[in-house]
Amino acid sequence: MGKDDILSRAAILQRDLETYAIMAGLTGGVMDVPTARRIADAAEKFGVKELKVTGAQRLALMGVREQDIDGAYEAMGTNYKDCAALCLQYIKACPGNTFCSRGQQDTLSFASKVRERFYPFPKISAKVKIGIAGCYNSCVEPAIKDIGIIGLPKGWTVMTGGAGGKEPMFAQIIASNLDDAQTLELMERILKYYRAASSRHLTRNLRLGVIMSKEGNGPLMRACGLE
Ligand code: SF4
Repeated sequence: MGKDDILSRAAILQRDLETYAIMAGLTGGVMDVPTARRIADAAEKFGVKELKVTGAQRLALMGVREQDIDGAYEAMGTNYKDCAALCLQYIKACPGNTFCSRGQQDTLSFASKVRERFYPFPKISAKVKIGIAGCYNSCVEPAIKDIGIIGLPKGWTVMTGGAGGKEPMFAQIIASNLDDAQTLELMERILKYYRAASSRHLTRNLRLGVIMSKEGNGPLMRACGLE
């Protein structure tokens, strides 16, 4: 039998049908120098010649042999369970006011809070993509994420229902001027609604935006206590 992705170990079969790409999980795509060095050392140790920054702000080691997957994860200091959802779930954050002169809010620390509280998002069979931008410039495209968050001077603006792909959709703003705790609470309600809808017969496996277009905004807004 031929090889395939090993999703339980977050390893994606490459075009050579022999080796795998594995991921270093990085919140907001940021890493300190010791982490970068550890990843580079792991790559060299296991004969990896190239790294790829993924669209989900992870760092992929390309061309890892199957027998080296666990060792490479251990050498990087990455728990592969953090990356197991791979392309189906991610939190993408811009540099925010930690690094960017235009940033209005601390996207990176908020991304860590979201990750600690929710990730991986359990029992949601459709994709869960979250974009956290530090200002309206929207460098991580929150308007095409299932949950898009924008930092503004008075707090976070939350939008839902965006997607790229075959049928692109723009997210709709459902709340503004929220602090971190209020935004996390609202996200919990959105995710609960999404989880329930993604397991119902008529909306099974559908993206949040498609569910909203089928059911209207009312059910989500009521589930979030916004109506
Ligand atoms: S969205 Fe705003 S804060 Fe974030 S990187 Fe772009 S310009 Fe900077």
